[in-house]
Amino acid sequence: MSLAVKKEQSEQDVRFSVVEEPMPAIELLSTEKIYSNGTRALLPVDLKVKQGEFVTLLGPSGCGKSTLLKMVAGLEAPSDGRLLLWRKPVDKLASQNRSLSFVFQEASLMVWTTVRKNVRLALELEGVKGEEAEKRVDQALELVGLSKFADALPKELSGGMQMRVSIARGLVVNPDLLLMDEPFGALDEITRFKLDSELLDLWRKNGLTVVFVTHSIHEAVFLSQRVVVMAARPGRIIDEVKIDEPFPRSEDFRLTAKFSEYSMTLHRLLSKASVEEDL
Ligand code: ADP
Repeated sequence: MSLAVKKEQSEQDVRFSVVEEPMPAIELLSTEKIYSNGTRALLPVDLKVKQGEFVTLLGPSGCGKSTLLKMVAGLEAPSDGRLLLWRKPVDKLASQNRSLSFVFQEASLMVWTTVRKNVRLALELEGVKGEEAEKRVDQALELVGLSKFADALPKELSGGMQMRVSIARGLVVNPDLLLMDEPFGALDEITRFKLDSELLDLWRKNGLTVVFVTHSIHEAVFLSQRVVVMAARPGRIIDEVKIDEPFPRSEDFRLTAKFSEYSMTLHRLLSKASVEEDL
């Protein structure tokens, strides 16, 4: 637990009191990425995500959103700078008894086997077997509302249901950190709205830390506590916007003046960055 000292000044004395600050789950400190072919995917970025926070990376294609997420997941190494998870290097995550899950845009399910076995695979990779595995698979499927489809094959499910299986596979390992790379990008808008709401419920119920990638301004506003705005050529962070709206958020939030204001602010930031790119 991290502690900060807050100075409280009164007329005669200066008192110090201890204020609790949530532990940073992720810290990028001048972290940059140049791929081996010379592509400069990300200029040095500084970003902190607090434990339990829901942060979205918003920006056009090619601005380095996936690269940033993959570095956090340990799938790509930074070219320079530091990247810490719970104050330790990424490769020390397991020794801290913490885990993360990565949900991709495609559900990427094994088509030849059932929903249950698809979700169970994630546990087997972690060495969880037998009754314990079955119990956790059941819980994960219940969380995403798919208990009745445990024995179905992926092809018997809609696109939205397949994505729920993918999320269940991410949740079954009880991750501390959930990284999602445009998970609902391929779905129709109504399904996407539904899954956005379900995701917020899961985040709140499970105390997860979520980093979510999207290029949809509206999705970013609806989901996030904080939106990190990125621009391309070269990929970089240009600003961030706090979405100061309480949870739970209902669909009605999408119809409010505040929602439009946040969307306009993000739109302006993204447009400004793309004009600068063209100069
Ligand atoms: P985004 O997710 O915002 O679309 P990416 O992180 O996928 O952006 O890509 C950022 C830049 O890095 C792009 O120019 C992309 O072509 C490049 N890039 C991504 N992955 C690789 C790779 N494995 N090798 C070389 N260049 C890459």
